[in-house]
Parts: sequence; structure tokens; C-alpha cells
Amino acid sequence: MNQQTGNDTDFDPTLFERVLLIGGQWIPATSGETRDCIDPATGRVLVSVDEASPDDARAAVAAARATFDRGDWPATAVAERCAVLDRVADLLQRDKERLSVIETLDTGKTLAESRIDIDDVTSVFRYYAQLAAVSSDRLVDVGNPAVISRVVHEPIGVCVMIAPWNYPLLQISWKIAPALAAGCTMVLKPSEVTPLSTIAFTHLLEEAGVPDGVVNLLQGSGATIGSALTDNADVDFVSFTGGLATGSAILASAAPHVTKVAVELGGKNPHIVFADAAGEDTFDASVDQVLTGVFLHSGQVCSAGTRLIVEDSVADRFVDEIVRRAEAIRMGPGTDPASETGPLVSTTQRDKMEAFVETAVAEGAVLRTGGRAPSDPALADGSYFLPTVFDHCSREMDIVQLETFGPILTVERFTTEAEALRLGNDTEYGLAAGVRTTDPERGERMVRGLRHGTVWLNDFGYYTAAAEWGGFKKSGNGRELGPAGLHEYQETKHIWNNT
Ligand code: NAD
Repeated sequence: MNQQTGNDTDFDPTLFERVLLIGGQWIPATSGETRDCIDPATGRVLVSVDEASPDDARAAVAAARATFDRGDWPATAVAERCAVLDRVADLLQRDKERLSVIETLDTGKTLAESRIDIDDVTSVFRYYAQLAAVSSDRLVDVGNPAVISRVVHEPIGVCVMIAPWNYPLLQISWKIAPALAAGCTMVLKPSEVTPLSTIAFTHLLEEAGVPDGVVNLLQGSGATIGSALTDNADVDFVSFTGGLATGSAILASAAPHVTKVAVELGGKNPHIVFADAAGEDTFDASVDQVLTGVFLHSGQVCSAGTRLIVEDSVADRFVDEIVRRAEAIRMGPGTDPASETGPLVSTTQRDKMEAFVETAVAEGAVLRTGGRAPSDPALADGSYFLPTVFDHCSREMDIVQLETFGPILTVERFTTEAEALRLGNDTEYGLAAGVRTTDPERGERMVRGLRHGTVWLNDFGYYTAAAEWGGFKKSGNGRELGPAGLHEYQETKHIWNNT
């Protein structure tokens, strides 16, 4: 990759000629269908990849089932599995630049963001390599010395992993790393919108020594192959990250088999700013974090802080500064080092933003900036959308309640702490929230009162592989990362031994 020009000569299209991996063989799809992968910065076709048929999907599950039932991977010593995870982490770092280019071309995010993603994926593999090496099995005292009672953890079995398009490699790695560590076999289904980094990464898994049949890879839309994966008696666990409607459909589809399903869904995340966090010493940092919190990756982040809830006494000045800085964000191709933000992932996504803006204006929200594609002719072929700020919003508006998944910030105002808390919880989602205040007691009351899976106090957007991630309410029902993220891939067995 040429850092100065954004020349993408490192992108090797031949890697994407065979994109289904079933039972250790890279094969074409039986459907005969392909789908174009588009660079959202330019609208050009990067490559066309095969689309799996439902039969391909069933074959991938069957391969994962046969590999699990043969038993060698689940029975492989944990230390050996962890060594494979460590090798994966090494290869990610060796190929960081190449993978970052692929991720940027496929998603539109900046190269700086893609590089952070690859580092984060590396950390997840390192974390589970260490965690899984320490047994969480335990002895239980049952009050009878003749009995040895043990609680042990075993791999859950065949896992289906379905991922979204916003953090393609990162989101699927939160599933692959603990599943490999636990001894599971799996079928990966990246989003049809952004499959490329997962294909490249699956080659690295093979190189790191993951045995044939442990990881199987499919491409295709959920509408075509989804039910072959989720309504399938050979699957023990479906781990899904994506939208609420899809997650709810998957839960219903898997129900007849009583298949365990974990869903990680959307968010409508409040960022609450008290007046004391917008004083002389705190104003700049608060504005910066509200801006980054909502406009990072053009707002296509499940935990984006899309709802600014700001104390009335400072709101006008605070919002003016947000608008000023939003207008200064440099937009351009993710491969250009000068770009601070890239395009949306697709023109479909840009059309959705236009529809949201139209509704919000009709509902009476005050458009302060953005609300449309940029007028710069150099960006005309990409799916760009300007950072957008709506002031004077209220809870009844769709723009305040629905996840836009794009660069749109809404502003609501409050006068009391109780009102701030009520507004912060006034959403069917519960993924993440931020609070900014210099009063530690109020901060503690707020972080405990907010019904969200992650709450940041005087910070926004950070996470670590060692701490659980997941949603309250309609943001989901599972946890990824941390010890709970490993236990999702394990069955718990009690062994009572009185011999
Ligand atoms: P989506 O629900 O449209 O698609 C997600 C995945 O599900 C894709 O791979 C898609 O092909 C597949 N799919 C669609 N229908 C299916 C079906 N019937 N059966 C099986 N699979 C099916 O979501 P998206 O637009 O790709 O991603 C955006 C959503 O993801 C947002 O709501 C965002 O908040 C959410 N998200 C959540 C988290 C989190 O950690 N909670 C992280 C990232 C993204």
C-alpha cells in the first residue's frame, strides 16, 4: 500500500476466486450465482464472489458436524489449541497492512480505522489463548467425602457465526477466537456486503494450523442461506450479530430445535452531558468525544452515541461547537491518509439516511448541518453522506427512537438529573451509553441507573477483550468478550462420582 497516494496495489483479486471452504476444500458455489463487491468510495466493482446455495450451507454444517463428532479437535489439548490462537495473532500482525487495505476497500472505513480493527482482532486472539489455558472447572463439596463432584466445561459443538458489515473481521473474530479456544467447530457467514476480509482471514486460520473441517466458510445473503443454517438440527449454537429484525427472525427459526442462539443487536445510544462537563476545562474534551462517538466510521457503529442529551444551560453553545466541528471533518476515500471519515458502506445505506432525514424534518427536528450527500464532485461516485446534526429533538420522533446506523446526531435537552436518566433509558435498546460529569457521586448514580450493557463515564467508545460486551433489552441476549464470551461456546457438565 502506498501511504501517500492510497494506491491499492496490495489488493490481490485472485484470493477471492474460490470463497467457500467446506471440509478443508476451497470450492465454487453450486448455485452458479455471484455477487459484486463494491468499493463504496468509488462505486467500482472490486471482485465478484460466489454466492452459496442452501445445499452448500447444509454441506458446510454437515462438515462441521462430522469434524466435531470425530472428536480430534475437541479432544486436542487446550495448550495446543491456544498455541494455534497465538499463531493466528502473529499472522494477523504479519499481514496487518494487507488485511487493512482489504477491509478499507470493502467497507469504506479509513485505513487508520482498519489498522485499529486488525490490532483489536489480534488482542482478542491473544486474550482467549491465555484465558482458555486456565481451567474454569471446579470441585464442589457435596457434604459426603465419598463423592467427588466436579463441574467441567466442554465445547458446545457446531457453531454458526453470522456477522454484520460494519466491523466485518472484528465482529466475527469475537466469535471465532473463543470458539476455537473452547474446541468447537464452526460455519462462518460474513455479511454479503463485506465478505472479503473474512475470506482472507480464513486462509490465515488454515496457515496457523486450524485442522480441516474445523472452520467452514460460506458466502451469501441471509435470505438465501440463512434458514439452512439456523433451522438445522446439526447446529448446537448460533451466534448472530446484526439488526433487531434479523435477530428476532433467527431466534424464531432456531426455536423448533431448541438451538441455543445468542444475538448481539443494534443500539440507540445516549451520550449525556451535564453542564459541569462543558465548563472551561472540560468543554473541548466533551465536544471531541461526542463527535468521535457519533461520527466514527460514519456512524456505522452499533454503540455510536447517536443521541446527545445535554443540560439545557449549556446546550446552545455546546451544539454550536459540535456543528462547527462536524462541518470541518475531512471526508474522502478511506485509502487517502488525509481522510478523517470515509463513505457509507453502500448506496443503499445512503438512501436510508436520506429517508431518515426527510422523516425527521417532517417531524419537526431542526436540521443544523448535513442531511445530504456532499456536493464535492470528487466524491460523486462514492456513497458519502455528510455528518448530520438535528437539534430540538424529542422522544416521539423516529429519528430519536430508530437506529439509523449512519452519521446522524440528535440533540435532546434536560434540566434535572432525573430527567437525564429517564431520557437515557427511554429506548427499546440497551447497548451502550456515555455520561459526562465532573461530580463523581452523580456519575456513579448515573452509570448504575442506565440500563445499558456498557456505560462510559467521561469517556466514550472504548472496550477491551477482557471485559464483556453485550446488550440489555432489545440490544441482545448474550455476551461476547471476557470470560462470559468463552462460556457461550461451552456446555457445563456436573460429574457426580461415588465410586
Ligand atoms: P443484518 O441484520 O441485515 O445482517 C446481519 C447478518 O445477518 C448478515 O450476514 C446477513 O446476511 C445475515 N442475515 C440476514 N437475514 C438472515 C436470516 N434470515 N437468517 C440468517 N442470517 C441472516 O445487519 P447488518 O445491516 O449487516 O448490520 C447492522 C446491524 O448490526 C445494526 O443493527 C448494528 O447495530 C448491528 N451490530 C451490532 C453489534 C453488537 O455488538 N451488538 C455490532 C455490530 C453491528
